[in-house]
Amino acid sequence: MKKKKNLCEPFDFRFERDGAGYIVSGPAGYAIRLTAAEFSAFNTGRVKEDSALFRKLAAAGLLRGRLDLEDVSARASGLSAGAYEGPGLHILVLTLKCNHACVYCRATAGGTGETVMSRATALKSVETAFSSPNKKISIEFQGGEALLNWPVLKAAVHHAKKLNLKAGRDLALSVVTNLSLMDEEKFKFLTEEGVSVCTSLDGPAKIHDANRRWSGGSSHAKAVYWLKRFQEAAAKDGRKDALPSALMTTTRLSLGNPRAIVDEYRALKLGGIFLRPLSPIGYAAGVWPEIGYAPEDFLAFYRAAIKRVMELNLAGEKFVERNAALLAAKMLRGEDPNYLDLRSPCGAAIGQLAYNYNGDVYTCDEGRMVAACGDDFFKLGSVHKNAFAELMTAPAARVCAMASCLENQPYCSRCAFKPFCGVCPVHNYSTQGTPWGDIRNGGWCVLQKGLFKTVFGLLEKSGTRKIIEAWLEKGNPG
Ligand code: SF4
Ligand code: SF4
Repeated sequence: MKKKKNLCEPFDFRFERDGAGYIVSGPAGYAIRLTAAEFSAFNTGRVKEDSALFRKLAAAGLLRGRLDLEDVSARASGLSAGAYEGPGLHILVLTLKCNHACVYCRATAGGTGETVMSRATALKSVETAFSSPNKKISIEFQGGEALLNWPVLKAAVHHAKKLNLKAGRDLALSVVTNLSLMDEEKFKFLTEEGVSVCTSLDGPAKIHDANRRWSGGSSHAKAVYWLKRFQEAAAKDGRKDALPSALMTTTRLSLGNPRAIVDEYRALKLGGIFLRPLSPIGYAAGVWPEIGYAPEDFLAFYRAAIKRVMELNLAGEKFVERNAALLAAKMLRGEDPNYLDLRSPCGAAIGQLAYNYNGDVYTCDEGRMVAACGDDFFKLGSVHKNAFAELMTAPAARVCAMASCLENQPYCSRCAFKPFCGVCPVHNYSTQGTPWGDIRNGGWCVLQKGLFKTVFGLLEKSGTRKIIEAWLEKGNPG
């Protein structure tokens, strides 16, 4: 007699103990919570058919006999969509020089020797960017302080626009600047040419100015003044996409001030905040004893800050926390929000390229930061010597693609967050001396797991879930 098929047989699942229960996910990338008793029944194939638990497991793609293969396939390709598009982000380091002396950055006023990108190198870098097959090309001008090389920035903007007349890509241009060198002429050019502005903002003046030291006065005051000017210009033109943005670097000084930092972003009408941990990479690794912290300390800071973010939203104000929005886009929608540092494989080379002032090309800006400390491990080649295809197939690109595939991390194989997570070869290399490393070491996994658990917890409560779902609606900064 033919044996009856067991519809309750578990299918390729991953789990994480959380409190008294478990968070469980399968290849379809749905994460659910089970009590210890439910988990035991599921794990041993003893779930009652047509029970509520059976339906919950079936909907999450966790039962072999109830698999919706089309859904599994659609979710899996949605979560890794960006891996097939080619590098979309192109970071041009216009100079290593800077007029600030930030506690987490090695750039200095004099730089070390001639560290300014020439016009020829900038144009060649832009041409290399347009060799990518990606339909969206985002060119980001960085430094040091990018505005110190203003004529070359302008030339690169004009060249990108000229090339795009023929290429027809979805082109985005942006400059990352401390805003201290902004003036009316630059302001006019950037607003007229549609180059968006991103500045650093570490919190209220007492935190920002302590981190971002400037002999010219208060870096915070300058940043705030120009942020407002760019906001006014965007409002006048009715262009939401031209709104300036700000990025925070979390140092040890930030940890005791989660509410004040969130409130500063709110007061400046920035619409949200991206609460990111500092990575012990490049120069920051050397000063880690002074400004660094344990992953658990960041997580405590994050939980306090997001509590404040939720308070604001529950009171009726829309204020986004981007880290939570990115993780939620993965967990709720099975989407790849193009967050290059949390992808499998990660965005090194296949998602972004960083062009140093001299034309050397790196897997990403973090790879370039390692090079700034004298180690070219993440160098792909040079815009002056190598064609795009050679850069993309350079050993460093291949090593990063393999090392950042979670399939190559034994500890990740059973983790509930594997469908949404990623590892960073530069972080591994900086903390463990190898791009693979053992993900249990170096702090990365503790940090990511803590963030996933926090956001998963918010998504379990209907009030906070509704807020995060609203962030994910089209047009929101999340
Ligand atoms: S190597 Fe690290 S920093 Fe570079 S793209 Fe990958 S995850 Fe991001
Ligand atoms: S890095 Fe940690 S949180 Fe991410 S998938 Fe691996 S084990 Fe899970």
